[in-house]
Amino acid sequence: MKPRILFTDQAGVLGGGELSLLDIASHFADTSRVVLFADGLFRERLEQRGVPVSICAAPAEVSGVSRAGGLTKDIKAAVGVIGLAREVARAARDYDVIYANSQKAFIVSAVAGKFACKPVIWHLRDLLDQQGEFSRLHRLVAIRLANHLCARVIANSRATADAFVACGGRPDRVRVVHNGIDPAPFQRLTAEEIGALRQQLGVAGVPTVGVFSRLAPWKGQHVLLEALSQLSGVHALLVGDALFGEQGYAEGLRELAAQLGITERVHFLGFRQDIPQLMSVVDVVAHTSVTPEPFGRVLVEGMLARRPVVAARAGGVLEIVEDGVTGVLVAPGDARALAAVLRDLIANPDKARALAEAGYAAAIRQFSIEALLRGVTEQVSEVVVRTQRG
Ligand code: UDP
Repeated sequence: MKPRILFTDQAGVLGGGELSLLDIASHFADTSRVVLFADGLFRERLEQRGVPVSICAAPAEVSGVSRAGGLTKDIKAAVGVIGLAREVARAARDYDVIYANSQKAFIVSAVAGKFACKPVIWHLRDLLDQQGEFSRLHRLVAIRLANHLCARVIANSRATADAFVACGGRPDRVRVVHNGIDPAPFQRLTAEEIGALRQQLGVAGVPTVGVFSRLAPWKGQHVLLEALSQLSGVHALLVGDALFGEQGYAEGLRELAAQLGITERVHFLGFRQDIPQLMSVVDVVAHTSVTPEPFGRVLVEGMLARRPVVAARAGGVLEIVEDGVTGVLVAPGDARALAAVLRDLIANPDKARALAEAGYAAAIRQFSIEALLRGVTEQVSEVVVRTQRG
């Protein structure tokens, strides 16, 4: 029998974690529900897929929690967390398990699980040893809750699992289940569609590289702009928007393009929902994160689009790309090295094609949606059966 799962996620927008949950929750749509702490496009996409969704809006003191917060704000946030946890606990009554898909959602869900006497699973998609939006104290709280109130931590990469353990997380709690991506949207594109989109974007017949990440300093789009300034005639698509309040960086990128004199070669496309099409338009998919990436869905997607990928050598990326075989790795933040690889791939289409074909085969083999759903189902079922046995 399919488990009844109450999924929780703090975001209303569509980041990588939310896109992954979209696939997982769709699979369990007939028995499960998603509770979001903010409304937005994510709710719409879940509803389009027939997934029941409720919004439990987080109070500002919870949604606004950040590293820079300080003790007074943290105390107010803790009060907010308890209120939100009560709502989630009420919603959890008819479900077997609470499944938190993000760090904030986990903190709330861990408390809710205690209130509702339900087991809690945390799908961990962050490298907890990296400075993220949370302070050391927040991380400590998350780890403590994971060790004491969480039945299972599903890590989206070996790197994420190792970081969890390095920060004090119990190794026996954690299992790795890699992300999986549905290849179908990448396979049904025609040459006509791709040609028309190239025309529309103004890159027909022009060597083009793309980055497909939200605009944020750690995603390192500035590194691509610097690399581009060392290449003549190459255009770049910057696909993505500042999803979590990093508008300043987004504006800075436009200024940097102007300073580097490459404005007419840089196409800011904002947040898009036609990623398979856009990836098929570019010659190379670049990943430029300057701090380690927990997983990096964009790389698997680039491989499924049969494009050569060039990625920053760190974190979960090392589990996706085999350097020189299924893509090319460069040191994070090294614009000169990135420029050299892009130059090489654009000048040597046969080499680019061979990498792309090997990448495609590896993505199909290692990162299927079936394997993701199998892995998640296994973990959830184990937790539910163990709980029912008492
Ligand atoms: N993405 C998207 N629209 C955009 C930019 C990115 O749908 O305009 C998607 C991208 O295709 C990928 C996800 O956002 O599936 C980003 O996931 P990733 O693991 O690369 O990074 P995260 O956002 O989780 O840090």
